[in-house]
Amino acid sequence: MASVFAVVDPPIARSLVLKLFNERPIDPNVEEIIRLIDERGLDEVAPVGADDEHAFPLVATPKCLVFAEAGEEPIGIAVLRVDSDRFRPLNVVLNGTRVKRDLSYGTSIAVYLADLVNEIHSRGFVIGDISGTNLLADDSGFVTVVDVDSFGVEFDDGRSPISAGFATSNYIAPDILDGHATIASDRFVIACLILQFLLHGMHPFGGVRRGVLQSSIQENMSNNDSWLFARDEFVLPKPFHAYMSMESLPPTLRRLARAALRSPERPSAEEWLEATVAAADRIGFCEHCGQQKFEEAACSACSSGRDIPPFQVNPEDAPPTPPAATVPVATPTPSPPTTPPDVGSGGLWGLRKKRRA
Ligand SMILES: [Zn+2]
Repeated sequence: MASVFAVVDPPIARSLVLKLFNERPIDPNVEEIIRLIDERGLDEVAPVGADDEHAFPLVATPKCLVFAEAGEEPIGIAVLRVDSDRFRPLNVVLNGTRVKRDLSYGTSIAVYLADLVNEIHSRGFVIGDISGTNLLADDSGFVTVVDVDSFGVEFDDGRSPISAGFATSNYIAPDILDGHATIASDRFVIACLILQFLLHGMHPFGGVRRGVLQSSIQENMSNNDSWLFARDEFVLPKPFHAYMSMESLPPTLRRLARAALRSPERPSAEEWLEATVAAADRIGFCEHCGQQKFEEAACSACSSGRDIPPFQVNPEDAPPTPPAATVPVATPTPSPPTTPPDVGSGGLWGLRKKRRA
């Protein structure tokens, strides 16, 4: 556990918070990680909103060690500040209703999540402790990451890597149950989160295999048992149970999902970034029920675009299953789409300027 304090004066320090470790010594690697963050420019990337006032640290990097008295052991770190009124943890965002209703919003988060991880991985850092509390998003879908002091670092010159901290349950890739995170395990966990945002909040390892009383996301993940590959054999919770499937994704994202969850060649964050930016541009409304859907994908709110009938659900809560052509829908009220990220001709980089906080 650590205590976090706002820094009030001098004014330049308002962009920082102090994180003091009360009950454990500071990770001996933190000083080296702070140096490498500076050397590799991880604190220099910040997306820019409408103006400087809306800029935020893409990564809440530690900037320096904090000492109580000169010469003593460090008692904490000074970290770039993230506005907690604006950014909410991803597990809070995922439990809200907007991700379930607003595919444009979920896709924006997926885009900025892929962008964030690409920035981190391309500089040789491993996130390690990816979780719904360490990653945060705002109402525009911008994403930032905190608790960076557990990052790992990989080197090109043969030096042994600095190990990343341990992962959090429900975010542990199947190949690192007994060890530290790697860029490859980051890729697995990030793919799960990106897919969850592209699937209206339904986790790719959520749900329960038919005939099993219960299983956690981590159990399904450790067994690599995803409803995306065996839809008929899984019961998904409401409101996902009836029509959600791999076909809810457009073909490019289906291909990435298969590779990310099923193959040793997991797609990079850069590949996810390219695919999610393209998908964000191709969100339309279902002509049958009026809900948002990806073009080239089946509607997950009704059966439109699917060749087979809705999936079976628990007998006690089976939904009505009318023929596709006459799906009765209670007054379609399509939620207005949020503006998908405007990536312009310069890609996401065009939205960003170098900024040293
Ligand atoms: Zn529909």
